[in-house]
Amino acid sequence: MDNPCQQNDKENVSPDLDTKRKDYLEWRDYFMSVAFLSAQRSKDPSTQVGACIVNDENKIVGIGYNGMPNHCSDDDLPWARKGNWLDTKYPYVCHAEMNAIMNKNCSSVSGCTIYVALFPCNECAKLIIQSGIKKVIYMSDKHKENDCMIASRKLLDLAHVEYTQHIPKHRKIVIDFDNINARHK
Ligand SMILES: [Zn+2]
Repeated sequence: MDNPCQQNDKENVSPDLDTKRKDYLEWRDYFMSVAFLSAQRSKDPSTQVGACIVNDENKIVGIGYNGMPNHCSDDDLPWARKGNWLDTKYPYVCHAEMNAIMNKNCSSVSGCTIYVALFPCNECAKLIIQSGIKKVIYMSDKHKENDCMIASRKLLDLAHVEYTQHIPKHRKIVIDFDNINARHK
């Protein structure tokens, strides 16, 4: 296999090099992987989240991860989760969804789908609704019982924004930069 994006799914490996690969990434796994990869850019020590916005032609139109606002040095702002509110990250950090929407490379994300690692909070739900995004695909809903997630679901339901948990075909995707130099066997 000479693809740099190698998957850990041995039984699906193409039997030879003359037929179409069967272990290629499906669209949903691909977009969720882009969200997870962009999360690797985050400097947040506790939660790294990525988001990827896709239009109805399966084109990526926005990517983001959680981080401090532009021109606000992340060395000058706190990353703590506890303590006085002003000394925590919460008043300052921009969530991945906000950054993905603001980073859009087209005039509108209306009708698009957003892929996110974590179910969006209520503040991001507002942004998703106001931007016209129609569908949320998330991996984890681990904060489901938190008030901000309950409020988020309430808003998304009222605005008829669909949300679906993603069940990946591949549980793990490994990127091996050396693989591109591997010889065909
Ligand atoms: Zn949020």
